[in-house]
Amino acid sequence: MKKLKGVAASRGICIGPAFQFLRTELNTEKIETNDPEAEIIRLDAAIKTAKDQIENIYQKARGESSAADAEIFQAHKMILDDPEMISAIKTRIVDERVNGEFAVAETAKTFAATMAAMDDEYFAARATDIMDVANRLLRVMMNVAESPTEGLQEPSIILADDLTPSDTVLLDKTMVLGFCIAQGSATSHTAILARGLGLPAVAGAGNDVMQIKSGTKMIVDGSNGLVFLDPDAATEQEYKRRKETSQNLQAEALKFAHEHAKTIDGAEFEIVANIGNVEDAKFAVENGAEGVGLLRTEFLYLERNSLPTEEEQYKAYKAIMDVFGDNPVVLRTLDVGGDKEIPYLHLEKEMNPFLGERALRLCLSRPDIFKPQLRAALRAGVGHNLKIMFPMVATLCCVRDAKAVVDECKAELREEGIPFAEDAEIGIMVEIPSAAVIADQLAKEVDFFSIGTNDLSQYTMAADRTNPKVAKFSNAFQPAVLRLIKMVIKAAHEEGKWVGMCGELAGEPLAAPILVGLGLDEFSMSPPFIPLVKQIIRNLKADEMVALAEAVLQLEAPEDIQDFVRKEIPFIGEIAS
Ligand code: PEP
Ligand code: MG
Repeated sequence: MKKLKGVAASRGICIGPAFQFLRTELNTEKIETNDPEAEIIRLDAAIKTAKDQIENIYQKARGESSAADAEIFQAHKMILDDPEMISAIKTRIVDERVNGEFAVAETAKTFAATMAAMDDEYFAARATDIMDVANRLLRVMMNVAESPTEGLQEPSIILADDLTPSDTVLLDKTMVLGFCIAQGSATSHTAILARGLGLPAVAGAGNDVMQIKSGTKMIVDGSNGLVFLDPDAATEQEYKRRKETSQNLQAEALKFAHEHAKTIDGAEFEIVANIGNVEDAKFAVENGAEGVGLLRTEFLYLERNSLPTEEEQYKAYKAIMDVFGDNPVVLRTLDVGGDKEIPYLHLEKEMNPFLGERALRLCLSRPDIFKPQLRAALRAGVGHNLKIMFPMVATLCCVRDAKAVVDECKAELREEGIPFAEDAEIGIMVEIPSAAVIADQLAKEVDFFSIGTNDLSQYTMAADRTNPKVAKFSNAFQPAVLRLIKMVIKAAHEEGKWVGMCGELAGEPLAAPILVGLGLDEFSMSPPFIPLVKQIIRNLKADEMVALAEAVLQLEAPEDIQDFVRKEIPFIGEIAS
């Protein structure tokens, strides 16, 4: 038996075979060929396979997601049936005597560029479709896996150096037991994804992860950041027992997931979800979410080759809003940069991307990105309870500038006679320490705050959230972070504004009593955590938690704080173990 130590990235235990996901880049270099005929036969076979794949995805999308999503795949099939494009590829192979990959890539670029140049939303979307289809064709030709789960025969534990948000979009969730990742920390995006799915994950387990052979039996203990390879019988037995206990706790909490989170002494808290798409939305409702506290819109911008149009965004946001009816949906405007890259934006490389032109900073300098998103959100909010939230706010000026763009969009929509959510609340994420420090001023400017503890911890502690070596610093239980949270809640309440939290701390069992004591109004978390956090809150007395929070803020280290909560409220210790 071998043991690896990493970072506890997503709670829970899984036992099963390992599966190495190796990413391969698509290489479309020009190679001369003496046998164009053979290239054409290869191309035709790849087209057939790609069409079969699309048909499968289409059938799956029809069953799972909105009609609009499914229609995209119909459009993709039509591209592969388009005689003009296919014969252009073949002509290139024959005339230039080049390999199929080069011909596909170059022809697709030309066709897509022509569409994109038409300056029309419909054709811009077609350009994206052409590039999507071309990439599929290229993957088939090069025998490159489309997703981390392609080729998997049985549910397994995914091993990878790291996963990008795009990899995770393509994951076949039914084939994943959990994750063991060489890089990253508790708030990296792989960790957030794992939590969203309710799957155990260990991150930052080091390069040894890459040496593990597919098929090796493993245990991932996502609660304690431990990984066992070829476990001995006693260890496996113990973990099976723990897994069963935690599954029972979760199943019990799930029975009451739709009841409110009201403490014994009658204080009620709003429990909402962090989501990224319409599937998450449905899953969140099943888990008892009373709305959405964080809609991470960047997922709409991934896995494609150009910006989503206003119309596409409108449809996607509306589909999500429809799931929640009158319940609140906090839509966060685009938060790219840092560890979230979007290649087609061709953003300049920065020395410190987490400290660079990220999120709202980028949106304010790119109205071509910002305005279509705001217009789409405002339109989708009609008849719903939309709240718009800006990420990465550092100054009052940023908020005022962003609000001015919202007003501009509203004026345009009014002028065009297009209905929109007139009264959507406007809020900000408090995730940069400067925003926490001037929370009293910011509270006058907005309707609400949502505390982003993932970034607030990394910026307060000067510790990269993706670097496992400094994971102990970028920990939201650090006293400095908790004290900032207290300041932010107090400043907002003094202005009569509500405060939520959408960073990962909001879903931590050991944090729940502290946050209740500090008077947080709304807790937003990955859907699988909702039932347990509600259950915990229902068993607390809010009055007593005020004193607990005060005591906690005098302690000196995250471990002291967690131990204190475990000791004071033993039933939480059991849940969080
Ligand atoms: C945060 O920073 O706490 C947050 C919720 O946003 P993200 O993790 O997407 O940066
Ligand atoms: Mg953030």
